[in-house]
Amino acid sequence: EAEAGWRWDKAVCRFCGTGCGIMIAVKDGRIVAVKGDPKAPVNRGLNCIKGYFTAKIMYGADRLTKPLLRMNERGEFDKNGKFRPVSWQRAFEEMAKQFKKAYNELGPEGVAIFSSGQYTIMEGYAAVKLTKAGWRTNNIDPNARHCMASAVAAFIQTFGIDEPSGCYDDIELTDTILVWGSNMAEMHPILWARVTDRKLSDPDNVRLVVLSTFRHRTMDLADIDIVFRPSTDVAIWNYIAREIVYNHPEAIDWDFVNKHTVFATGYIDIGYGMRTPDHPSFTEKERETVRKQVAKPVSNLEAKALSIYGYKEGDIIQMKHAKQAGKHWIITFEDFKKGLEPYTLDYVARIAKGDPDEDLETFKRKLKALADLYIDKNRKALTFWTMGFNQHTRGTWCNELAYTVHLLLGKQAKPGSGAFSITGQPSACGTAREVGTFAHRLPADMVVFNPKHRKIAEKIWRIPEGTINPKVGSHIVKIMRDLEDGKIKWAWVMVCNPWQDTANANHWIKAARKMDNFIVVSDSYPGISAKVADLILPAAMIYEKWGAYGNAERRTQHWRQQVIAPGEAMPDIWHIVEFSKYFKLKEVWKEWRLSDGTVLPNVLDKAKEMGYDPEMTLYEVLFANDYFKSFKWPDPIAKNPNTGEMHPNTEAEGDHRNVRGIDGKPWKGYGFFIQKALWEEYRKFGNGHGHDLAYFDTYHRVRGLRWPVVDGKETLWRFNAKYDPYVRKLAPGEDFAFYGPALKSLPKGDLFGPKTKQKFSLKNKAKIFFRPYMDPPETPDSEYPFWLATGRVLEHWHSGTMTMRVPELYRAVPEALCYMHPADAKKLGVKDGELVWVESRRGKVKARVETRGRNRPPRGLVFVPWFDERVYINKVTLDATCPISKQTDYKKCAVKIYKA
Ligand code: SF4
Repeated sequence: EAEAGWRWDKAVCRFCGTGCGIMIAVKDGRIVAVKGDPKAPVNRGLNCIKGYFTAKIMYGADRLTKPLLRMNERGEFDKNGKFRPVSWQRAFEEMAKQFKKAYNELGPEGVAIFSSGQYTIMEGYAAVKLTKAGWRTNNIDPNARHCMASAVAAFIQTFGIDEPSGCYDDIELTDTILVWGSNMAEMHPILWARVTDRKLSDPDNVRLVVLSTFRHRTMDLADIDIVFRPSTDVAIWNYIAREIVYNHPEAIDWDFVNKHTVFATGYIDIGYGMRTPDHPSFTEKERETVRKQVAKPVSNLEAKALSIYGYKEGDIIQMKHAKQAGKHWIITFEDFKKGLEPYTLDYVARIAKGDPDEDLETFKRKLKALADLYIDKNRKALTFWTMGFNQHTRGTWCNELAYTVHLLLGKQAKPGSGAFSITGQPSACGTAREVGTFAHRLPADMVVFNPKHRKIAEKIWRIPEGTINPKVGSHIVKIMRDLEDGKIKWAWVMVCNPWQDTANANHWIKAARKMDNFIVVSDSYPGISAKVADLILPAAMIYEKWGAYGNAERRTQHWRQQVIAPGEAMPDIWHIVEFSKYFKLKEVWKEWRLSDGTVLPNVLDKAKEMGYDPEMTLYEVLFANDYFKSFKWPDPIAKNPNTGEMHPNTEAEGDHRNVRGIDGKPWKGYGFFIQKALWEEYRKFGNGHGHDLAYFDTYHRVRGLRWPVVDGKETLWRFNAKYDPYVRKLAPGEDFAFYGPALKSLPKGDLFGPKTKQKFSLKNKAKIFFRPYMDPPETPDSEYPFWLATGRVLEHWHSGTMTMRVPELYRAVPEALCYMHPADAKKLGVKDGELVWVESRRGKVKARVETRGRNRPPRGLVFVPWFDERVYINKVTLDATCPISKQTDYKKCAVKIYKA
């Protein structure tokens, strides 16, 4: 009775990469209840607190409901003007005018999109199509760059194909779980519930090890808790590998290693993605940080490796070597062994011990016990990680070394065993990675710099050969820098909040506000980035639109629109598709000369041969061509599978909002129709290439499927012949095959560089990497004596623009605290609840001290979460990146703390 008039439907939670299913009840056009979906295989009816309150994010009092443009009193655009409401048409006209100004001056390199792993798959796909096929720029990059770019780089370098080989079923099948650089209990609570369940249902047999730079909730259940010094995880991995190779060679699965792997190493990519100290934008204090990036080899091996570049100890490392990042070559097992030689238990324990109050012998015992668990032939091993690995100046290496240990032991891609990177954002996998909203990517692991890949994309997109720009675009960190340097002058932010999530934020806000730059922000609430903008476009939120996400175990899940967005807020896909109407082919498909001399040819003649008129708009070619028009509606999928009723919020019952395009015509593509057309086109990229997806309609009838989906069946363990249909195709009769287009020929060499140009095939082999330990660019010193680590808390999502507007979540955690050790607080003369300044060379913020809370740092380290824009901790953090993945290191920089 209480539920009279409620309509329940399945949907997906939008608050982490776990990918929980939820049930949503709608009454009178409003979401009235949310519960865990009992049929969802990921969460089996449970949600965490963010999941239960997910619908309330849509009902904050200050939702953006109208386009807002900075204008003067006369109604003209004015960079220094106040935000005033305008029509969508006026908004798009100004946006297009400013776009064309930047585009005509700087070419396709002068414009950019900030995106994220919170785009739905179809939104991300439409954005990639508009930028890469339409505007001929590759300047689109997701904030997933800050989240799991290191995981992606390591997947590609190791296996040649992105994303984990295993799945969540591994949790119930393993007996050894290692959680490293992840506070799973707060960031992936439902996965943690499964881990907890596994541990507590067989406590004597199941072992749980947790490694982190500070103690947190995930450690509470650990059999072995290891607190290590920031950045030394690479050294710990090398110790484990050394223990295997030198002391337990019998543990090496030689059959597996010989058949399926090769040993490799690469350049010691230095520079940490920072500019050279002479860049004019640096303040003296910032310059000091960069100067500190001096060559500090910690072993002979590293000294020798640095000498490849002509460095000696004390030299300033130059950016010129950044282009070597990621280059690698194959080495012998003997060389691999030689590389590991310095990483003895004594050496690693001395550099890696993270808690000054723990004695060295205890720490050594823990490291040895950790290695023994991996080595034990009778045990499986399941290693999980997230940002602790990825947000690391050696993030790619850290990921690679997890595979190194698993591959050596043959504990990879087997039920219950594997190294498993879990993602932060709900569609970091589905949208950022699989769709390829990165500056170098195309859908399905293809890349813009590969001519064959461009040709495939151009064929699927029905655009002339030669349209796609072959030059890798600016990644998200570089877009910020390009805005400062005048290389990009127009940027569009969608589904993210880059000026709250960028490190060294003050610096980059100043750059974005330069008079020549025009910033558009599509958002639902006025966060920090909206305040930086010149134009704000109101965006519909999660259940106000159709969508699909891909979670961390390769599971793709779709949902239907449930309610209508307030005011004039529209789905991001509408923003993208409508804006494409402002560009004629003749404006974008003409010849362009890029900054490095690359010429993008005029493709208008070819376009004419394909039946396109140069006067046509990008909309007509990309989103309303014959293929798109071939989709018929109403469609059977419009029926609610739970009730059999026609779903009320679809075009099957007419255009319920009377939504019109910018040209005044009804927009029939608003709901499922364009979603389906885009989805069916997108599927063509991966099908037959190990990335197969099912039909749009299928996903609306099931609770997600893990790709590759071949002959209607999902794949639980990739690369394993028993489960993966592609292995049989590639290597009949073998148990394993690591497949992927990036496994190309590599030169041979030794630890210090490639020695020969001779090429030979490594097809289908995974790489076991040797990577040395090196210090991060900034470490505590006498002036800035504390480490600062940032991260999240259970109750809040990312920059807090959504969850801080949910009363229950706000009340639970109303502000970001500075977690520190009680002894440090005592020394500083501060008590819990009192305010301190947290100050680095880049900026400072005030936060309240907490010494007894859920996060318990060792002496010398503080943890401050980043969800609270009033405790704007990214003013303090360091914008150094992994040289390979370009992912920012938010987990360590040097700060001083004093009473406010
Ligand atoms: Fe949502 Fe993640 Fe919580 Fe699941 S664990 S309910 S996906 S936030």
